Parts: sequence; C-alpha cells; structure tokens
Amino acid sequence: MTRVIPRFDTLAAAKYSPSPAADGGDKDRASLEEVFGQNLFGLHQMKSRLPKPQYEALQSTIQNGTELDPSVADAVALAMKDWAIEKGATHFTHWFQPLTGHTAEKHDSFLKPTGDGRAITEFRGSELVQGEPDASSFPSGGLRATFEARGYTAWDPTSPAFLVEGPGGAYLCIPTAFASWAGDALDTKTPLLRSMHALDVQARRALVLFGSPPQAVRATCGAEQEFFLIDEEFYFRRPDLQTTGRTLFGTKPPKGQELDDHYFGSIPERVLEYMNEVELELYKLGVPLTTRHNEVAPGQYEMAPIYEDSNQAADHQQLMMSTLRRIARKYGLVCLLHEKPFQGVNGSGKHLNFSFGTTDQNLLEPGETPHDNMQFLFFCSAVLNGLARHQDLMRATVAYAGNDHRLGANEAPPAIISAFIGDQLQDIFEQIEESGEAKSSISSGLLGLGVNVLPRLSKHASDRNRTSPFAFTGNKFEFRALGSSQSVSFAATVLNTIVAESVDEFCGILEADLEKGVSFDEALRSLLASQIHEFKQIIFNGDNYSEEWVVEAEARGLLNLRGTMDALPKLVEEKNAALFEKYGVLSRRELESRFEVFVEQYFMTVNIEGESAQQMAQTMVLPAAIRYLNDLVGAAEAADEVGLKSEGVLTTARLVNDLITSLTETLKVLGDRNQELGGDDLLSKAAHMRDNIIPAMNDVRDVVDRLERLIPDDLWPVPTYREMLFVK
Ligand code: ADP
Ligand code: MG
Repeated sequence: MTRVIPRFDTLAAAKYSPSPAADGGDKDRASLEEVFGQNLFGLHQMKSRLPKPQYEALQSTIQNGTELDPSVADAVALAMKDWAIEKGATHFTHWFQPLTGHTAEKHDSFLKPTGDGRAITEFRGSELVQGEPDASSFPSGGLRATFEARGYTAWDPTSPAFLVEGPGGAYLCIPTAFASWAGDALDTKTPLLRSMHALDVQARRALVLFGSPPQAVRATCGAEQEFFLIDEEFYFRRPDLQTTGRTLFGTKPPKGQELDDHYFGSIPERVLEYMNEVELELYKLGVPLTTRHNEVAPGQYEMAPIYEDSNQAADHQQLMMSTLRRIARKYGLVCLLHEKPFQGVNGSGKHLNFSFGTTDQNLLEPGETPHDNMQFLFFCSAVLNGLARHQDLMRATVAYAGNDHRLGANEAPPAIISAFIGDQLQDIFEQIEESGEAKSSISSGLLGLGVNVLPRLSKHASDRNRTSPFAFTGNKFEFRALGSSQSVSFAATVLNTIVAESVDEFCGILEADLEKGVSFDEALRSLLASQIHEFKQIIFNGDNYSEEWVVEAEARGLLNLRGTMDALPKLVEEKNAALFEKYGVLSRRELESRFEVFVEQYFMTVNIEGESAQQMAQTMVLPAAIRYLNDLVGAAEAADEVGLKSEGVLTTARLVNDLITSLTETLKVLGDRNQELGGDDLLSKAAHMRDNIIPAMNDVRDVVDRLERLIPDDLWPVPTYREMLFVK
C-alpha cells in the first residue's frame, strides 16, 4: 500500500488547524474597505495632511510629470513621518529595485539625538528625496567598480510610500530609483519611468492629431502571478530547492496533472487561509488583488491584481512576490516562484497585460465596431508594428536561466514571438489590406446555452488562444512569456519603448501628409493600409505549440531564439542600442551594463545548480544507492544460507550496481566540468555553462531519477514529487 505521507511525520500540515470560519458577525473584523490602503500613504492621505498648495504641486508632478519643487518635499516628509509614526513606525527606508530582480532596503531611524541625552523624531525633505545606500554589492555590470561604491536613491513621488508591519514594529518604505554616482541607472524603475514618459509624449502627440485635447497617457499593466506551494518540511529536506529554487532531481508522480482535476478545483483549506491572509496584507498596501484559483499542476496556484499604471504595477508586483513568500511561512508552507520547480510538471509563468490610455479612455479598446474605430486601429497597429520590428528585444526581456525550462516547451509560449489578434481583428486587417479600408466587423453576439432558465451570455468577438506568446485579449495585449519569478519592469519598459517608436513614426507620416494637404482620414487610411505589410508576418492565430508553426515561422523569417544565450546578445545590437538611446530609456553604457549583468546572472545560476547537483548526488543519492546494494547483497547471501533462490535479489542488485557505476561516471564528468571556468570573459563562462554544465547535469539527473524509481522509499534521502506536490 502506498503511504500518503511517508517518512516525514512532522509535516507542518499536521500542526495546522484552521482558524474559526468567519461568520460575518465578528464585529472586530475591519471591513475590506477600511483595510484597503490602510498602510499606504496615497493621494487620499496626502490630501488630508498636506497644505493645499503643496498637495496641488505634488499632484501635478504625479499626474503630469512636472518637476517637483524642493519645498514640497519638506512638507511631504513631515506629513509622511507623522502618519508613519502614528501607525507605529520607527524607521524609514528608501525601497529600490536593483538589477538582482529583487528589492533592496536599508533602514534609518526617525530618531535623532539632541545631544543632551534626549532625542526627537525627524525626517527632512532632503532625506525623503535622496538617499545614499552603500551600493557596492549591487550588480552594475562594470559601471561601478567596488572601490567606487557611491550610489544614490531618488524618491519616486509617482508611487506612494507604504508601511511594512513586521514582528518587531513597522517601517516606512519609500519607492525610489537607484543610480550610480555618475548618474547611470542601476535599477529597473528608472528605465521604466523613462519609457512611460516616451510613450506618453508620442501617444499625446497622436491624440492631438486625432482631435483630442492634449492629455497625459499612462501605460498600464496587470500581472498574473503563478506559484507553487509546498510543505516547508519538504523544502528543508531538499538542498536543491533551498539553494536553487528548483528540484535538480526527481521523477514525475504517477498522478500528475494528467487528470486536469486541479485546475480551477476547490482550494485546500490551509491554502485558502493563506491566500486570504496574503490578500489582506496586500490590500493594506493598496495592491488591488482580484482573482485567485488553482492552476494546472497540483500544488500550483495563481493570483492576479487589477491593472494599474505600469510603475505602480511593477512596484506592487514585487510586493506581491515578497508577501507570497513571507506569509507562506506562517502556514508551514513555502512559496516557490521558480519557473520550473518540478521537471515534467507544468511550470509557472507571469502574464503581463499591457495597455495604455488617458484617465478616461483605454487606447486599445476597440469598441463594438472596431472597423470604424480608426484611433484604435492606429494604436493597435503601432503595437503590432513594434512587436514585428523588435521580436528580438521582446524575447530578450524574458531570457534567463529559470525561464529556459519553460519557453519553447509544450506548456509555455514558444521562443518564437508572434501575436494572436483573433478572428475579428484578423478580418478587419484583411479588409484593409485588400481594399484599403474596412467596412464591417464580425459581430460578437449572444451565446444561447439551450436551456431557457440560463441567461444568454454575451459572447466575445474572438476566442482565446492560450498558446500565443502575445495575445490581444479584448482591450489589451497579454505578454505570456514572462517567468514567474521575474520583475515585470524590463518587459514593460521594452513594450512602452517599441510602441513609442511606432507611434512616433506613424505620427511623422501623418504629419507629413497633412503638410502636403492630404486630408486626415485619407492619410490615416493609407498609413494603416501600408503598415499591415510591416507586421503581417508576426500575426499567427493558430497553435503555437505545433511543429508546423516552427517551420512556418522560419519561412516567414521570424526569429527563433531558443535559449537565454541566443537571446541576450540581441540586446546590445545596434538597432536596439539606437532605439533605447533615441527615446532616452537607456544609454549605451546602461544597456551594455545590463547585458553584462544578465549574462553574469545566467552564468551564476547554472554554476550554482551544477555544484548543488554534484554535491547532492555525491553525498545523498550515491550513499543511499550503496546502502541499498549492501542490503541486497546481504539478502542474497542470507537467502543462499537458508537454501532460497537469490536470483531475483541479485538481478535487482546488478541493476543498482550498474546505476552506481553510471552515477560515479557521470558525476566525475560533472565534477571535472564544475572545476573548469570555460574562459576568462563572461560570455565564454556562460557558454561553458550552457554547453558543458547543463548537459553534464542532465546526465547525472537521468541516472539519479532511475535510481529513485528503484530504491526503497525509506532509503531515498529526499522527499519525492509525489509527496511534495499534494498540499494537505
Ligand atoms: P481576461 O480574463 O478577459 O483576460 P481580466 O479582466 O480577467 O481579463 O484581466 C486579466 C488581467 O488583465 C488582470 O490582471 C487585469 O488587471 C489585466 N488588465 C485588464 N485590463 C487591462 C488594461 N487596460 N491594461 C493592463 N492590464 C489590464
Ligand atoms: Mg492570463
């Protein structure tokens, strides 16, 4: 009989007891409305605490991007400090996003000694506006040698400060940008803000051509987050999970996701309570979470927020990942954000929903009859045009070691960048291509379910296509190739920039036509008709997982950059360096440095995996196999002594012995290669990882996984997939 929870008898599950069910009569529970934003120093707080002129100056900075008057900072700092201290804060920190992909903070106390044995609390405008963390240990890709450690953080007034409540007290976090002493961006926020500005400038210009009054245009982003939850007991018994975030060994459980019974299934109690608490914590910070459900794989879940402007969404995405991780521990769970924690089981992605608009219109909203919504067609064409021209860049934004396990595999979007636009838009673009203009839209209509008591559902004009890396989903594009652990910032930055460039060029063409006396309608029609030829090749509404698509994409001339090291070098090609430079998003130095950081991260990730795999196989798996062999040999001898036939035992012993030999051999190769560096420069070291370490690791894994299927449960040194994947 299979034991459901074998060996590990102190599972956190056993210690978990659900909190009493909320019955709605509990008067102490704050209402959701009260909780939302309670730890956020948002516009609402500022309005009630700041003098009117300062509040208005700040609001103008936030909404229109005007420069901030330094005197405003003093007023904001004072109000922020009072608010934070009332809520129990003792410290403040500039919270920033270095190129590690995580967030960083260094705490400073509000307390200032007065010199006479007492102290007062103080927080000056200058401390709000600028900070100077010791920057030497953050990645800079050669921009800043360790002996020139100076780096600065700069307050980002467009993302509200928030309060983090820890066990020992609370502290105020101020979202900031992070740059080197020489002024080069060393973070993910700075280029994102610059790209939002570029898109704003160009989209405003276009809106004016369409006859709208000039209005700020904000890029919007909503990121859906997938993750796994496992019992912490298992986590702490797997050195690979602890050091690399994924299992380096392990065979697929007999019951995996084949039955599809987990997806949208009911959520286990412990997980539900965990999700409730995650939501509550994020609501306090003003993160607008909205959906939660089980994902495809057992133990896998998804949560998603309502979209916000890209900068806030990127900050909130980071808060979401750290909250998911932090709260899990309270429930005896560990949240795995790795893209592929379990081989052979669905991986985790992050979908970046992208659009842009003014306060009152989403510029990618097609309306009921998209064929006559020329403004929508203009902006939609700009997105598709940008994508077609910069497939390489889009691919590079999702290129890193963890994501290599997903992209191109049969569960995640392929490495080929294409766009799904659905039947309705496809038809409109075809009409424009054939006759220069579109005269009709395929209507969406109502869906009858054949039962009178059920309501008639309004049907979308196009079905979904889950295989597409970049899909139009009604009023936004969904970029699905991001991995679950990554920051959304760089992908959002690239999207904003490539759309800004297309809108810029489109506007240039229209303006030149208008200059020549062509009517606006005529100029627009001819622009749209000519642009289709520029992006037609990236539109693909079929099955992106099919073999035929790979062949067809190649015939269409689309790129197929399979792995990280194929994609990353594209970043620094002249076309892309010129693009970032033209729109002021990244200087050449900044781009070069990012490239270096990304290559180094690839190298380090695989390097750590290679060494962990070697150590685990050597010190945990090999001894277990030898013990089992010893048992078998002993059993065979004992059988002989009492006159039993030992042939069956010996057959198994031979199998184990052969695998021990193979493991020793493959481990020798991995061990030798781990000793080599593969060269002096970063690119050769990264290539060594891809060409030598990964194959050697795979060879070791193959033997270890075969041993796992052979060695008795009680001798196997680590928890198996079967145990880990089904959270109780
Ligand atoms: P659907 O399920 O039809 O794709 P949802 O309304 O469930 O759409 O949204 C899915 C995700 O897309 C959510 O995270 C949501 O915040 C995001 N989203 C919706 N509208 C926009 C928009 N205009 N810009 C960016 N993201 C958006
Ligand atoms: Mg989605």
